[in-house]
Amino acid sequence: MEFETRAIHDGQAPDPATGAVVTPIYATSTYAQAAPGEHGGYEYSRTANPTRTALEDVLASLEGAGPGGGAVATASGMAATALAGYLLRPGDHLVIPDDAYGGTFRFVSQVLASQGVEWTAADVTDPGAVAAAAGPSTAMVWVETPTNPLLRIADLDAMAAVAHDAGALLCVDNTFATPYLQQPLARGADLVLHSTTKYLGGHSDTVGGALVTADPDLAERLRFLQNAAGPVPGPFDAYLVLRGIKTLAVRMDRHGANAARVAAFLDGDDRVAEVIYPGLASHPQHALAARQMAGFGGMVSFRPRGGPEAAARVASSTSVFLLAESLGGVESLIEVPASMTHLAASGSALEVPADLIRLSVGIEHPDDLVADLDRALG
Ligand SMILES: *Cc1c(COP(=O)(O)O)cnc(C)c1O
Repeated sequence: MEFETRAIHDGQAPDPATGAVVTPIYATSTYAQAAPGEHGGYEYSRTANPTRTALEDVLASLEGAGPGGGAVATASGMAATALAGYLLRPGDHLVIPDDAYGGTFRFVSQVLASQGVEWTAADVTDPGAVAAAAGPSTAMVWVETPTNPLLRIADLDAMAAVAHDAGALLCVDNTFATPYLQQPLARGADLVLHSTTKYLGGHSDTVGGALVTADPDLAERLRFLQNAAGPVPGPFDAYLVLRGIKTLAVRMDRHGANAARVAAFLDGDDRVAEVIYPGLASHPQHALAARQMAGFGGMVSFRPRGGPEAAARVASSTSVFLLAESLGGVESLIEVPASMTHLAASGSALEVPADLIRLSVGIEHPDDLVADLDRALG
């Protein structure tokens, strides 16, 4: 069945006990057993919970994990990153993007590094640079595409080849694209990571994450780690993400259409020095984005003329776009990564331009969004 249909039905059959059309929020920590060790698949909610199972099953379906694969839902995107980190051992080497999500950079540089994991930041738009950064101890290549906040595109086919040549796993943070626009497992990725806080949840009302794989051994290892380390979402949070996923396709269509409108407006405006959107023909990897993505997504970055002061002024002057971290919700958000989401990266190889503004374009009427930016640019 097609994506939109699976988003609504996979993992979400009517409740067997009552026929409820919507997956119930199973608010229970434990499950009665018929005899010691004799149960219906659920013993304890850290190990498994039916609301979470529904979410994991639909995520596995949408990412194309196949019959042997699976998904593990986590308490946040960073909890998913931490679980992926548990796959690494002291002495293992990891390659991360040189404009990785700030939290990923913080976790790798301050947590994994303290446990003996070596890392290198590389330009993931350049397969040669990633191949050069990988060595005999490289166990994982970590890719975001589009990257946050510079919206660079990594060639997933090439990244899979580079990672596998090095004997490493390829982990793709698919938060920005969502499985509606891009399915990394089909291009050779071993692991897909999500912050479900963003587009999958879609309403800025919950924090969550997930890891998805098509590899049966890796799926089993992830389930073991999920239970052993315990960073699970509660059933209400799992329900909110499940509910969000049902409308993912229609939301992503509108996010993309609105982002294209906003990018075109900014691109033609003298008060703007640079616009970064993969859907613009001027984006250096527009053709690659068109090849591996079904659309260009809802994120737009730009640099107003006038430097960091101008960026701070514009970001403080919008009224429809709310000045806030995070992204992927129905409401439009504006932020300055250098002083907000990417503050942890300042002074490092991952530092982003101080005058860069990042927009998460919501699903409001595009005329209102353009008018808001027009006013704020002054
Ligand atoms: C937000 C985000 C994360 C971290 O997810 P949380 O849910 O905030 O823990 C990881 N990667 C990307 C690309 C993100 O945008």
